[in-house]
Amino acid sequence: MNQASQKWTFEKSADLYNLPGWGSPYFEASEDGLLHVRPDGVGGPSVALTDVVEMARQLGMALPLLIRFDGILAHRLSCLRDAFCTAASEHGYTGRYRPVYPIKVNQQRSVVEGLLSAGGGQESRPGLEVGSKPEMLAVVALLEQPSLIICNGYKDESYMESAVLATRLGHEVVVVIEKPSEVETISRVVEREGRDVCPWLGVRSRLVAQGSGRWESSAGDRAKFGLSASQLVECVDWLKNVELIDRVRLLHFHLGSQLTAIRPWKAALNEASRVYVELRAMGCPLNILDVGGGLAVDYDGSRTNFSSSRNYTEQEYANDVVFQIQSACQSANQPVPDIVTEAGRALVAHHSMMVVEVTGSSRLSRDGLLEEAKSDEADIVLSFRENIARLSVKTVLEVYHDALSLREELLSRFKLGLVNLPTRALCENLFFATCDRVASLVKTLDSVPEELEGLHRRIADIYFCNFSVFQSVPDHWAIRQIFPVMPIHRLDEEPTEHAVLGDMTCDSDGRIDRFADHREVKEVLEVHRLREGERYMLGIFLIGAYQETLGDLHNLFGDTDTVHVGFDAEGKPTFTHAVQGEPVGKVLDYVGYDEAWLTERYDAALARLVESGALTEVDAVVIRRDLAHGLADNTYLTERSVRSVRADDLAEDDEDSNEVAAVKVAPVTESSKELRDEGPLASSAGVGD
Ligand SMILES: *Cc1c(COP(=O)(O)O)cnc(C)c1O
Repeated sequence: MNQASQKWTFEKSADLYNLPGWGSPYFEASEDGLLHVRPDGVGGPSVALTDVVEMARQLGMALPLLIRFDGILAHRLSCLRDAFCTAASEHGYTGRYRPVYPIKVNQQRSVVEGLLSAGGGQESRPGLEVGSKPEMLAVVALLEQPSLIICNGYKDESYMESAVLATRLGHEVVVVIEKPSEVETISRVVEREGRDVCPWLGVRSRLVAQGSGRWESSAGDRAKFGLSASQLVECVDWLKNVELIDRVRLLHFHLGSQLTAIRPWKAALNEASRVYVELRAMGCPLNILDVGGGLAVDYDGSRTNFSSSRNYTEQEYANDVVFQIQSACQSANQPVPDIVTEAGRALVAHHSMMVVEVTGSSRLSRDGLLEEAKSDEADIVLSFRENIARLSVKTVLEVYHDALSLREELLSRFKLGLVNLPTRALCENLFFATCDRVASLVKTLDSVPEELEGLHRRIADIYFCNFSVFQSVPDHWAIRQIFPVMPIHRLDEEPTEHAVLGDMTCDSDGRIDRFADHREVKEVLEVHRLREGERYMLGIFLIGAYQETLGDLHNLFGDTDTVHVGFDAEGKPTFTHAVQGEPVGKVLDYVGYDEAWLTERYDAALARLVESGALTEVDAVVIRRDLAHGLADNTYLTERSVRSVRADDLAEDDEDSNEVAAVKVAPVTESSKELRDEGPLASSAGVGD
């Protein structure tokens, strides 16, 4: 251990990855060098993520592993509720606060159920918002007790009919009118089904005030949704004509997602509150103001109005909502409404994370591995060596420039046939070693020469990880969103390497190369050097919102294994659910290769080989069994011994269920043998670009 790592502490790791910024109060580095999770927040029980991974391995599950914490869901909901309670008591606000969860953010049944059961009682259960027919049908089946259901999105008659059914079942259903023509659809269905089962109605206002951030165009004159001032007036007339005006209860607006700044909120709330009192004055018996979603998540922990952050707290947000509505109602002498929020991202983003394993690296920087000089080395090799030897604070730029021109020289000599491949390889090692030393030296300088600013990035390693960006963090690829990433162990050791993360897909976009930092975005992540025979695991955090249903099957990487972590009465971690990832056979089925067809084709091929004498009967049976295991494996790199045991065990269980029924202890194998440097000639290219 060198001097630097002796002084390194877990606190330094926490600071380096800005852990308190995005992870507090749920994720914490600890003295043991491990990352711990505390789902119920301060004072609650905690567990090291490495222990969760080990528990999952005992069950026969493997990395990449999606881990959910129901405790975090409950805690997020109570934080939001507390913020509104505090704001209401501070302002003497008499309306109720009613949080509503928009299920499009994460429709997984376990997530919706987790939120519904959070905190227990009827009063504390959130309502649900749906934006389409399938979401509506899911919610109506799910809800067992009378609940608030808000129906947004475009509506046809059958959507309306399911709203009527939900009303019959005793739910408080509010159908939000997004287009004037929807009034006609609604009144037709109500005429047919009877007025006594007519849902409540709401209107969605299209505000001129716009949010800030990536989704700012969700509001404003050109927004896709909502009624403009003149459409609102038209709509009110229409509702009066069809005698439905007495069913109108709710005014809704939605500014867009991940609103990074507080200022636009104030303007929008002000405008919406004015619309609210005006509509009441026109005879709409409104009593709910639904301020939509948009409450942002501080993904990078920077507390700024950067697109992956936010410059306000939940409390400030709640205070503004309550204050603006209260003032508008007071000035207009109207009673205050109940307040509904449709915050989605802010409720569920924190509750899930993924652990991935680094399966190997592609290394450019070669420092510490400089080959001994031999006596008969080519001139150009000697020049590289002399150049490195000259490096000092004073010569740093000069040495870097000379290294660049030597490399050019090397390439032209190679093309002319004057330099052979082993010499070229040696020179490139020396070149990257020079860059590596230059980069380390630059770190100690007060001012960094502009040219050398991105050097760390250019010589960064690639750490290949067993997961798919497209399946598990699609927004990193699609909209360059930042998700916190850090190792879940070795936090008491200095991470000396710099890397970008490559995934398992054959796509050069399948990488994570933007990371949370205190002030700006980092293009490389500090990681530890891989050790032979020892697994290295990274966590990707705050992936509970939007990632799961947006995730796709690029290269046919499917759902990963998933566990739900809870705690028993003694505070010991337990799994409340464990769900096996999608097997290869199922994923192939999605794209038209059903399993029976595949098996038939393989059988025919094997039979041909046996017939021609190229394969024995016994070998054919073995191959067939391996193929069957291959189809039952999940789609990621698997550790065969663990997987095979489980595939056999599961075969006896209910075929249709992915649920891992009971604890089946599989042998814990040594970590993957692939955990190995690719050797001195590894270049920067990804896995088969
Ligand atoms: C998407 C959506 C939400 C959720 O937005 P978040 O940014 O996740 O809080 C709320 N309401 C409506 C109408 C939506 O379309």
